[in-house]
Amino acid sequence: MAKRTLYGTVIVTYRCNARCNMCDCFKDPTRPDEEITLEDIRKLPEMAFTNITGGEPFIRQDIPDIVRELYKKSDRIVISTNGYFTDRIIALCREFPKVGIRISIEGLQATNDAIRGIPDGFNRGYRTLKTLVEMKHPDVGFGMTVQDMNCEDLVPLYNIANDMGMEFATATLHNSFYFRKTDNRIDDKYKVAQNFEKLINELLRSKSPKKWFRAYFNHGLINYIYGNKKEIAEYKAIREKGVPVKPITIREPGAPEEVHTIQDDETDKAAEEEFLIHPTHDTGSIWYMVISFFLPILGLIAALLFKKFRHTRNYKMCRKGAIAGFILIGVILLVFLLLLWRVVA
Ligand code: SF4
Repeated sequence: MAKRTLYGTVIVTYRCNARCNMCDCFKDPTRPDEEITLEDIRKLPEMAFTNITGGEPFIRQDIPDIVRELYKKSDRIVISTNGYFTDRIIALCREFPKVGIRISIEGLQATNDAIRGIPDGFNRGYRTLKTLVEMKHPDVGFGMTVQDMNCEDLVPLYNIANDMGMEFATATLHNSFYFRKTDNRIDDKYKVAQNFEKLINELLRSKSPKKWFRAYFNHGLINYIYGNKKEIAEYKAIREKGVPVKPITIREPGAPEEVHTIQDDETDKAAEEEFLIHPTHDTGSIWYMVISFFLPILGLIAALLFKKFRHTRNYKMCRKGAIAGFILIGVILLVFLLLLWRVVA
């Protein structure tokens, strides 16, 4: 069978139980008879990775059938959800233990529920996450889309993620086809950027090189929020003066829409990939490389296992360490043989 290389997204519905302030899909839902069918799925090409998204995918009662059908043609499946339908999600994960689940939580309880427009949304999402962690589901993560309303919850949510031993992925408010909106924007850029800085400081304080890279990524999101060099320079000037955080509007209401550039698209794509592609335990810790260096055979076995389970970051670390370890052993052997040859000769 030819190697599967395609990455695809299957939008199974535009219906949603939530009423998020950054998404209009609930105003324009699909009718069930308009949505993708199992027959359609059978016609899709073979894929290496498939993201199932919506709307809220678990609003469809036949989601297990969709996943079953997609597994015939996709090596890896990750479902993006607001986590509300706990029982359906847990039942699906029991049936498909390898399926990835990414739950978006938009802030602590009050903030999340205000943004989502559904009472109990936070508790339901959190309960789903906690249950999945308790049942040791291998591929689960959560993230938030940062905006004016929830930026102050960034660090508290990051702490919750740490307590649960999970990765915490961030993206910023943006406009997209699946949000069905064109007027999403951050008004108080300074306040949002300052909260990103708090998160960056927390990430840099950690002992994990991976989190240092995440800090760098989040720093990029500040640049994305400001959008151009002039605004970034203005932010730096305000920041250096130590201006306290308060609600301000940098872009006047009624100002023309900012043009969506290729760079914006790349930032969105990076945020989505960060959120979707890596399983929770795929940390890419530097220790995998160190241990593989000193124990290269073990490192090689670990690399093969990580590759099999698509923990690509861990796989790369083990592979690097094992290769370096084998090179060192090769050099030592060569020197030893040369010395032996000289003694014998
Ligand atoms: S952002 Fe997600 S959860 Fe919120 S309304 Fe849109 S599809 Fe539903």
